[in-house]
Amino acid sequence: MVRPPRAVNVGAFARDSAPRPLFDHHVHSDRSDGTVSLADRAKSVRIRPHGVSDHYPWRDKLRNEDDVLRYLDEASRLGLRVGIEYDLGVAPPLTARTHEALHYVIGAIHQVELGGEWVGFDAAGAFVKGRTKRFAERERFTDAAFQARIRERMLEVVTEGIARDHIDILGHPTFSALQAVGDGEVVYPEEWQERLIALCVQGGVAIEINESYGVPHREFLLRAARAGATFSVGSDTHFEIKPLDKTAAMIAAADLPWSRFLAGARLARMS
Ligand SMILES: [Zn+2]
Ligand SMILES: [Zn+2]
Repeated sequence: MVRPPRAVNVGAFARDSAPRPLFDHHVHSDRSDGTVSLADRAKSVRIRPHGVSDHYPWRDKLRNEDDVLRYLDEASRLGLRVGIEYDLGVAPPLTARTHEALHYVIGAIHQVELGGEWVGFDAAGAFVKGRTKRFAERERFTDAAFQARIRERMLEVVTEGIARDHIDILGHPTFSALQAVGDGEVVYPEEWQERLIALCVQGGVAIEINESYGVPHREFLLRAARAGATFSVGSDTHFEIKPLDKTAAMIAAADLPWSRFLAGARLARMS
């Protein structure tokens, strides 16, 4: 079994005159909804350093922790760093054994449960990624009271993901159906953003900059940097490895130091 290192030498990036590309933690394979095999993912680390982090749980492929441990074993034999994209609010609690064995865990929200009803973000995701021209559910998600309930539930599941499941990275932190109906500064009040950032900073959880969804927006990143957050790069690609143009522009616009980014391993935990 592969044991994760207990600490990350993040300082190495800042001292380099010609720094290595930042490590891409969020990459899918055909072990969930990606199109590329683990063997081909192992080859593309030559393009830039990256791991694999498939959805958990995922239908018939990553159904339970035995499946996760097999995935970890196969991918790490190929030389890959291995995480999962843990479905916050949906996935069963992770056992300590599986958590320890993985190199990192990305927690991410794709739907929320409100009063017994599941509110999915898939259509919103397709829209913000430019795969659909219209967002048919727009009307519903512009309701202020409904937006507030979604935001509160997001904070609850992130809190649980940190306290119970010890996630290392918060994937696409401000993605929800709200992203599809308005600017981040409008649909996410400053006070809500500060609460989400505080959860991450206090929980030792890195804030992901997600290439596919183009989140979080600049003001969120500036607030996170001021609060002392750590960050993580995630292309969230389901296809071939492409340049991280949007991510590079987002990092530059918020002037985030490379020394604050994870490098393929979790931070050592104090607790
Ligand atoms: Zn996701
Ligand atoms: Zn993903």
